[in-house]
Amino acid sequence: MPLPLDTDRDLQPLNSFGLPGRAAQFIRCDSVDSVQEAVRLPVFAQAARRLVLGGGSNLVITGDFAGCVLAPQIAGFARVGETADAWLVDVGAGEGWHATVARLLDEQLPGLENLALIPGSVGAAPIQNIGAYGLELTSRFHSLQAVEIETGALRRFSHADCAFGYRDSVFKRAAAGRFVIVSVTFALPKRWVPMVGYADVARGLAQRGVVDATPRDIFEVVVATRRAKLPDPAVLGNAGSFFKNPVVDASTWARLSGEHAEIVGYPQADGSVKLAAAWLIDRCGFKGQRRGAVGVHDRQALVLVNHGGARGGEVLALAQEIMGTVQRRFGVQLEPEPVVV
Ligand SMILES: Cc1cc2nc3c(=O)[nH]c(=O)nc-3n(C[C@H](O)[C@H](O)[C@H](O)COP(=O)(O)OP(=O)(O)OC[C@H]3O[C@@H](n4cnc5c(N)ncnc54)[C@H](O)[C@@H]3O)c2cc1C
Repeated sequence: MPLPLDTDRDLQPLNSFGLPGRAAQFIRCDSVDSVQEAVRLPVFAQAARRLVLGGGSNLVITGDFAGCVLAPQIAGFARVGETADAWLVDVGAGEGWHATVARLLDEQLPGLENLALIPGSVGAAPIQNIGAYGLELTSRFHSLQAVEIETGALRRFSHADCAFGYRDSVFKRAAAGRFVIVSVTFALPKRWVPMVGYADVARGLAQRGVVDATPRDIFEVVVATRRAKLPDPAVLGNAGSFFKNPVVDASTWARLSGEHAEIVGYPQADGSVKLAAAWLIDRCGFKGQRRGAVGVHDRQALVLVNHGGARGGEVLALAQEIMGTVQRRFGVQLEPEPVVV
């Protein structure tokens, strides 16, 4: 059976910002074999531009895409073994992230509940080592399988191979654009310990009168907190946090905390300090601001939103304005998180 190949595919419903753009070619793959076949097809292999598309929740589409999009919509969920400390569960790249977190809980395999309600696919989660509420994917990751675009070969990446960092992995660096992730193997702890250090989680549990939190308690608090704080992309287009939290060295932190008594910073193990980008943006007066069809969310200064009819260029212009203002006011360089297409 030939692979389903679309032309002139509308990308607007396929990105959570709701930005317009059409892809010249679009291939949907529902198996590892079909990904291996697709990357060898001239329409993909020789395309002027190539994009691997998951749930489209971390993208800024800047217009028509004169190339080939490959959407790895591979299903699958299976327990595949164990280590001394963890149960190993293999999940297809096309499974929804939140649905996977919920299913693991249902199957008495807790460990990812702090990452509930993050949009997108399982296959994209390792790309930027997704994180929220005190947990990053790296803590629950065992390995992944990916198809090399150049050769079509299937390769396994160990935890070390992925070189995870803060919103970072090898797939944003040396391996960027070279692989299609087809499955992720999670390592879920046999001895589960609640992660309740993050203020919003602790507060949410306290408000519910929970003392010994279960995985389900944490899942529900995280879901409720996210619903209260973040705009739903189905209602107001967005890509979640638009900027990473900048990490500065000790001397920059000394200067900033001397100049701004209330500045928010989290000391890191290596002596650097992670700043709250939302605080910096808020202090520059951007929260709730609008520039035509785009704006900064009125409850979360890190989130840029599409009020309706925005184009990718307008999103990038507002991002540049924010970055320039923060740089001038604090001498700190912000870095966007979403991928610009
Ligand atoms: C409301 C909202 C809240 C969010 N909250 C968080 C949060 O708390 N923490 C967080 O870390 N992120 C958050 N995000 C960002 C986003 O959900 C994650 O980055 C998510 O992992 C993106 O998944 P996706 O499938 O939508 O990827 P896409 O947006 O489709 O793609 C993102 C990047 O990954 C690549 N990619 C996708 N799938 C594959 C694959 N199978 N193989 C190879 N490359 C691939 C794409 O080419 C692209 O470069 C949020 C987004 C929104 C809209």
